[in-house]
Amino acid sequence: MPPPEPRILKVAFNAPARRMFDYLPPEDAPPRAAAQLVGRRVLAPLRGRDEVGVVLQAEMESAVPAARLLRIRKAFADMPPLSKAALDLVRFCSQYYCCPIGVAAFAAIPKPFRQNREFKTGQPPANTPPAAADNTVAADAAVADAKRKPSAPPPLTAEQKAALKSADADSGFAPHLVFGATGSGKTELYLHFIARALARGKQALMLAPEIHLTPQIESALRGRFPGRRVCVLHSAMPDRPRAENWLAAQSGSADIILGTRLAVFTPAPKLGVVIVDEEHDESFREAEQGLLFSARDLGVWRARRQGAAFFAGSATPSLESFHNALQEKYKIIRLRKPALPAARVSLELIPADNPRDGMTPEFMRALRESQAGEKSQALVFINRRGYAPALVCRECRAAVECRNCAARMTAHRRGAELRCHLCGKIARPPERCPACGAPALFSPAGHGTQRVEESLARAFPRAGVARLDRDSLARRGAFDAARRGIQSGQFRILVGTQIIAKGHDFPNLNFIGILNADAGLLSSDFRAQERMFALLTQALGRGTRNPAGCRALIQTRHPDHPFYAELRRGDVESCWSRILLERKKANLPPFSRLALLRAKSRDAAKLRAFLARARELAPRSGATICDPAPDFNPLVGGWHRAHILAQRPGKTRTAEAAFSGFLNEWAATLEKPKSGIQAAGIRWTVEVDPAGI
Ligand code: ADP
Ligand code: ZN
Repeated sequence: MPPPEPRILKVAFNAPARRMFDYLPPEDAPPRAAAQLVGRRVLAPLRGRDEVGVVLQAEMESAVPAARLLRIRKAFADMPPLSKAALDLVRFCSQYYCCPIGVAAFAAIPKPFRQNREFKTGQPPANTPPAAADNTVAADAAVADAKRKPSAPPPLTAEQKAALKSADADSGFAPHLVFGATGSGKTELYLHFIARALARGKQALMLAPEIHLTPQIESALRGRFPGRRVCVLHSAMPDRPRAENWLAAQSGSADIILGTRLAVFTPAPKLGVVIVDEEHDESFREAEQGLLFSARDLGVWRARRQGAAFFAGSATPSLESFHNALQEKYKIIRLRKPALPAARVSLELIPADNPRDGMTPEFMRALRESQAGEKSQALVFINRRGYAPALVCRECRAAVECRNCAARMTAHRRGAELRCHLCGKIARPPERCPACGAPALFSPAGHGTQRVEESLARAFPRAGVARLDRDSLARRGAFDAARRGIQSGQFRILVGTQIIAKGHDFPNLNFIGILNADAGLLSSDFRAQERMFALLTQALGRGTRNPAGCRALIQTRHPDHPFYAELRRGDVESCWSRILLERKKANLPPFSRLALLRAKSRDAAKLRAFLARARELAPRSGATICDPAPDFNPLVGGWHRAHILAQRPGKTRTAEAAFSGFLNEWAATLEKPKSGIQAAGIRWTVEVDPAGI
C-alpha cells in the first residue's frame, strides 16, 4: 500500500491573524496534488471572499471538521513554488519578529504576486538593466554587456591579500565582519568574494542600504562580471522589473542579486555568499510591508540555512556585530589603510560660543578662508531640517505646539509656515499666541538647514549655496540635480542633514563643518552616540578624496568628551569599547535582547487600561517585564502612545528560544477574543530588537 498522502493545506494570508487556515486542494487537482502545492500562491475563500494566500505546508489532518473544510479555488501558475529554504525563512522571520505568519509570507514575495491577477512576464532581455528606468548608470552599463571585457581587478593591497587569504569564502556557512575604514577597499573585497562564489557555480546576494545612493556598486558589478546576470531589486524601482528579477533569482539564472532590505527574501537556490554593505545602516531595519525586521540579521540566518559565506562590512560596524566579532562568533577582517593614496582630514574642535544662525564667528572665518580657492567646495552638516526647531511668542517665549502631538512645531520658510515633524501637519502661524493670547509676534528659535542655508547664501553670495535634506529632495529629480551641481562646481557650499554624508563625491572638497554633533551625546536614545559617531565618520570620510587636503571643524559645547578625541583619532574601537562598557552596566543590547509591546489609542485612559491588563496577561517566563511607560513621543497625530519593555533573561540559545516563545505566546494571548482584554480602539504590535526605546 502506498503511504498515506497529506491532503490538508495550510495557507497564510496577508492579514493580522497569527495563524494559518486549512484547505483541501482544488476540485480538479490530480492525486498527490497537495504536496506539490506547498510554496505556491493560491486563491482561497476566506470569510466569504476569495483571497490570495501562500501555502506553507501540507498535512495529514486538520482540526477543522471535514464537512467545514473548504477547497482552494486555484493555484496561480505565474510564480513557481517557494522552496523549503524560502519557507523556512518566512517561518523564522514570523517566529523571531513575533509577526503574523502571513505578513512575513507576503513580505517575501513581490507585489504583483500579492494580487489576485495573473502576472505576465515580459520578455526580459538577457542581462536586463533592471534599474534603467531610474538609474542612468545602469542604462549605460547595460549596452551590449555580455561582449564587454571584464574590468580587470587592481593588484590587491597587502591588507586585502591577507583578508582574502583568511576569509572562509568557499566552505559553507562562515560569518565575517569586514571592519574597514572608508576607502580601504571593502568593495574590492566583496567583488572577490562574489567571484569565488560564481566560480563555484553559486549565486551571490548583496544588500546595500540605499541603492540609488550607491550606483557605483551596480556599475562595479556589471563592469567586473559582464557575462553574468546581475539583477537589482530595490524599493525605488517599478514592480514589474522587480518581480521579473525576483523570478530570475528564484530560477537560479540570476548570478548576482543586488538589493535593499526586502531583497533579503529573494529566493536563490544556489546561494553561495551573502554580503551586507554598510551593515550598521539604520535602513536595514526599517519597517516594510508592516513587518519590522533587520535585513542584516535575516541575511546571516539565511546564509547559515543555505550554507553560504556571510560578510557584513562597515567602517563603523554596529555594536552588535562588533560584539559578535569580539566574541569570535564572526571572523574579523580588518582593513586599516586606504587602498588609494588618501588625503588627511584635519579635525579641529571649536567652542560653540556666540553663534549667529547656529554658526560662530570662528566657524565663519574658517569657512571663508576655505572658499579662497576658485573651485573649493564646502560641506556644512546640521542634523535638523526646517528653518528653526521652534517658533516662540515674543511676549511669553512659549513655543507653538502641534494640536495633535505633544511636540513643538518646526518653523519652515523663515517662520511663515509651521510643520509638525511627527504627524506631518502643516499650518500657518496662529493669529494669537496660544499660551498668553498676545497678538501674534513670533520669532524662530534655534536653527535648521534652511536657516543655515539662508545665512550662508547671504554671507557668500557668489558661492552657490545648495541645501540637501528630506524637504529639498521631495521634488522629483532633485537628487540628481544636486549631484550634477556638485560635480560641475556650480554648488560650492552644500548644507544638509545626514543625506550629505552619503553617496556624494565632491571633487574639490576642502572644508567640512559640523554644527550640532553634541545632539549625539545628549540624546536619551541609547544608540544616539553610536549613530552620531558612524555618521560623522562617514561625513569626514568625504574629505579624503581631495589631494590638496581638507579641514574639518566641529562646533561643540563638550570638547572634552572622550567621543571627540576618539573621533579625531578615527578610533572606532575605543569608542565602541567605551560604549560597550556603558551598555553592559545598563544591561542593554548587545548584552541583552529587548522587545517592546507598543500600543496606541486616541483615548489615554483606554491605553493605560490596555497596557495594565496586557502586563498581567504576560505569560510566566524568565523575561524581565517593565511597567508600562509613555513613548519618547507620547502623543502623535492624536494618538497616545506607550509601551511595555521586555528583556530577555540570559544569553544562551535556550534563553533566546524561550524569549521568542514568550513573545509569541503573549501576542497570541492578547489576540484571543476571550482574553478579557479591551482592545477596541487600541492598536498594538510587538517590536523585537527595537532601534530605540
Ligand atoms: P570602501 O568600500 O572600503 O570604502 P572602496 O572599495 O570603495 O572602499 O575603495 C576605495 C577606492 O580605492 C575605490 O576607488 C577603489 O576602486 C580603490 N581601490 C580599492 N582597492 C584597490 C586596490 N587594490 N588598488 C587600487 N585601487 C583600489
Ligand atoms: Zn503633530
